[in-house]
Amino acid sequence: MKKPVLKVALAASLTFSLFHAEAALAKPSEVVQAQPYKVFDQRIVNKVNADNMYNHIEHLSQVPRIAGTEAEKQAVEFIKSELESYGYKPEVQPFTFLGYTPPSAMELSVSELGGEWELQPFTYTVSGDVSGELVSAGLGTKEELADIEAKDKNALEGKIALIKRGEIAFSEKVLNAAHAGAVGVIIYNNEEGALNGTLGEANDSYVPAVALTKAEGEKLAAYIDNKQVTARLKVEGAVTEEKTSYNVSAVKEPTNRKKDTGDVIVVGAHHDSVEGAPGANDDASGTAMTLELARVLKNVPTDTKIRFITFGAEELGLVGSTHYVNNLSEEEINRIIANFNLDMVGSRDAGDLVMMTVDGEPNLVTELAQASSERLNGAPLPYEQGGRSDHVPFAEAGIPAALFIHSPTEEWYHTPEDTIDKISKEKLQDTAEIVGAAIYERARFDNMGPKPKKIKKEKNQAFYHNKEIR
Ligand SMILES: [Zn+2]
Repeated sequence: MKKPVLKVALAASLTFSLFHAEAALAKPSEVVQAQPYKVFDQRIVNKVNADNMYNHIEHLSQVPRIAGTEAEKQAVEFIKSELESYGYKPEVQPFTFLGYTPPSAMELSVSELGGEWELQPFTYTVSGDVSGELVSAGLGTKEELADIEAKDKNALEGKIALIKRGEIAFSEKVLNAAHAGAVGVIIYNNEEGALNGTLGEANDSYVPAVALTKAEGEKLAAYIDNKQVTARLKVEGAVTEEKTSYNVSAVKEPTNRKKDTGDVIVVGAHHDSVEGAPGANDDASGTAMTLELARVLKNVPTDTKIRFITFGAEELGLVGSTHYVNNLSEEEINRIIANFNLDMVGSRDAGDLVMMTVDGEPNLVTELAQASSERLNGAPLPYEQGGRSDHVPFAEAGIPAALFIHSPTEEWYHTPEDTIDKISKEKLQDTAEIVGAAIYERARFDNMGPKPKKIKKEKNQAFYHNKEIR
């Protein structure tokens, strides 16, 4: 969001008017009514420093920070030491997940049919070296396989199934074929281009599964029509194993424990990135903003606890944030009044700042940020419906939660081009000011903000970043 010029003028005049606050308070006027907010906001705005965030993003985005790798661990150490340098005692929460290493080699040979195949692995395929008759299995639906087996009970037993993309998920096709006895699966595309698919999650019942292009698949299907053909499929090096990722958190305790409201505000981001992407915007930007807000809010007087968290393994399905929320007691969940989730908050090439809530409805987070953006920039932030990030497990637990993101997202998203040179200091500054002022409005003493509202608890499908599953 572009900042109106007005704001700079306002900030400049405020420094002056602070001097005269005492005198001004004596005279009731509209200006006086508005004054307290401005003073409180300026406490945050004056401290937010885009250079800090930019430098942290630069440090974090040297290499991809894939969950469970050494690079993630180094990012975690960096986040921890930064928090310590602000005076916090950060906690590192380890958790395990099933990590997947893709195949190192794949090979397909079809008897009497030479040539190279443009094989692509399905993420989560298992390794194996299998041989058998190559048989067409249509779209690989349960109904189709039942029809095939009605004619020949062992139609797929010990065979390699050739299946067309479409209608059901890749994982279902593989499981249906494996259930019918197939020892390997080849799925070919139903549109031009390579098929880069995933089976979604690890499963012991999978058989080796690879993808072919549409042209290759149609060629194979024609070749095996009314003809007995043997094939051999080799997938090597694919491994599913337990890995460890981490959440890092730091707490700003209420300034005066006697005035502790018992409420907790959580602000956070994910520090991991996807394979091949240095993740400057996704989500070193949110991580750097979480750090900056932790620094800015460290010593401001509050009657509410603020917890700063960076999550691991978001890109693998919101694993870290889900682990975090699942390990909270009912009492702890009830104390969290708001979750501010910062994911992709600094791209020069993305659209304007928006908020997304899982149910598309406003809540305490959107109300606070609409009010702060209106005070700071003269216009309230829009909100819309959206999941796919770490606010989802909080919302599912009934906690008012929203994602802050620039929309539409930049085209570099999840690519090797998500680098520091695409980061806008202006967007970092603007977003951090809005979020910081929103949090402070609620957390400071004698807050005059809206009262917290618990949203209806409901299960939402935990969508995350664009993962193609069918
Ligand atoms: Zn992200």
